[in-house]
Amino acid sequence: MALGRPSVLPDRVPTVRELLASGRRSFSFEFFPPKTDAGERQLWHVIRDLERLQPTFVSVTYGAGGSTRDRTVEIVERLAHETTLTPVAHFTAVEHSVRELRHLVGRFAGAGVRNILAVRGDPPGRDPLAEWTKHPEGVAYAEDLVRLIRQSGDFCVGVAAFPYRHPRSPSVESDTEYFVRKCRAGADYAITQMFFRAEDYLRLRDRVAAAGCDTPIIPGIMPVTQVSTIARSEQLSGAPFPPDVAARFEAVADDPAAVRRLGIEHAAELCQTLLDEGAPGIHFITFNKSSATREVYQALVPAPAPVG
Ligand code: FAD
Repeated sequence: MALGRPSVLPDRVPTVRELLASGRRSFSFEFFPPKTDAGERQLWHVIRDLERLQPTFVSVTYGAGGSTRDRTVEIVERLAHETTLTPVAHFTAVEHSVRELRHLVGRFAGAGVRNILAVRGDPPGRDPLAEWTKHPEGVAYAEDLVRLIRQSGDFCVGVAAFPYRHPRSPSVESDTEYFVRKCRAGADYAITQMFFRAEDYLRLRDRVAAAGCDTPIIPGIMPVTQVSTIARSEQLSGAPFPPDVAARFEAVADDPAAVRRLGIEHAAELCQTLLDEGAPGIHFITFNKSSATREVYQALVPAPAPVG
């Protein structure tokens, strides 16, 4: 594909925009690119297991560096060619020049991947709040990445949303303002960071609507299956775990099976409330394991109908 020119993409792959516009609830699964061959074999086992549920789409995160990035591209290419699934490629601006970003978008297009989730990305290293440095010939914000992808072809673009505001945002107001800006730059939908109380999602949706933006926001849900996941969620989301929910887990902390059961039950209750409140669907963060996600999905009554 020539760089900078709109690409011609295959007709058969639906976009998330089209799937959401059908008005039926979406449900989707998020995977990460494994670092090892054994991890990749496990991932494909999970993908094949969850494929049977006919999700609306599946997404693959984009790592902070080198080899896992190549794996993201390889996995979405394989999803597009070898499965019945609609892949969404996460894509970040970290340590990429505009030229590289365009090249990678072209590679996605060449593989028939029409759906890209444009996020700025966390800085390389273990501290997500370390200083974020723009590549000298790169872009500074997700908003710029959305524009770049849009200019590169007929893509459907998703963005990230933060129920508790992004940890770098000085206020909820500025967080909302910049979120709306990236939607107006061409985002078709958003997926939230994980959260654990329905009201946190509803407040986000209300403030975005009050700012005049109607971009669909899909809740991102991670079932808690171990007490250690609570601390991990705080690290990943940059937000404190709600104390009332934590207390429910602490009450059964000595019994791993009870923690898991509670995690499934809590996630299913949360998803049901969100769907009842009109959320356009549920995006499950799977950590490359299928059983908890499948159990939560199956506990939803009535289960969201597959679209597409
Ligand atoms: P932005 O929208 O650019 O916002 C970053 C900060 O800058 C915010 O505080 C925002 O308010 C502010 N801001 C935005 N525009 C402006 C402006 N013009 N002027 C001043 N301030 C501004 N990370 C990965 O590395 N790989 C992934 O695959 C990945 N997938 C994710 C998927 C989801 C659903 C979510 C919620 C997050 C994901 N992340 C991923 C994490 C994400 O990259 C980080 O949280 C990152 O720090 C923020 O990304 P963003 O796209 O929201 O950034």
